[in-house]
Amino acid sequence: MENKLIVANHKMNMTASEINEFLKELGKINNKNVVICPTSIYIPYFLKKKFQVGIQNTFIHEKGAYTGEVSPMQAKSLGVNYTILGHSERRMYLEESDTFINKKVLEALNYDLKPIICIGETLEERNMLKTDKILKRQVINALRDVAKIEEVIIAYEPIWAIGTGVVPTNKEIKATISYIKTIINGLYPNNKVKVLYGGSVTEKNIKELNKIKEVDGYLVGGASLKPQAFLNIIEVVDSQ
Ligand code: PEP
Repeated sequence: MENKLIVANHKMNMTASEINEFLKELGKINNKNVVICPTSIYIPYFLKKKFQVGIQNTFIHEKGAYTGEVSPMQAKSLGVNYTILGHSERRMYLEESDTFINKKVLEALNYDLKPIICIGETLEERNMLKTDKILKRQVINALRDVAKIEEVIIAYEPIWAIGTGVVPTNKEIKATISYIKTIINGLYPNNKVKVLYGGSVTEKNIKELNKIKEVDGYLVGGASLKPQAFLNIIEVVDSQ
């Protein structure tokens, strides 16, 4: 079985001095299946360690007059290997569309930056039994014209599970991840795309979640900000 990926999404958290404290603990990680995605200005603090580094967003062009944006070319030139794209918070607060996300995916792949593409349904969509339809649309649109499918990672993050402490049952996660893999297989037969689960993963529920063999790893938000909790999550995933 392939190793599971554990991705930390720090979002817009911590000050520079808190990052230094954080790294005293996290600097110990010796595991290339761990990807830490700090707030982008802190990325240099995280480089040249024994884990991998990702960025929380990248743009659709390589350079130019795009104030505030960071390109995949720039991220890659620094030693960053992953980019989180299509996170629900960006879809929601910045109105990122499927088409825009697809452009970001293609630009990232041009520079061998592995996109971690987030997909997921809202609570309302779930209650209206639209989950499959939404996920299918998000996957198909995000992967349009993708040639290097082996570089792509999908993270299934039900929006109602992000930061809420509410987690789907193992049975639900297994069914949804299998469904996502069926969609990807329809587009790219025999692919090895990793499909992660994200949404309120903690040191308390990781043992149970990690029983689902269809899940190829985790995207961890809140719990990745607490060094010991994150180290415990890594330990459980590594040891099971
Ligand atoms: C996320 O937003 O990517 C996430 C997984 O957050 P949390 O773990 O806090 O639910």
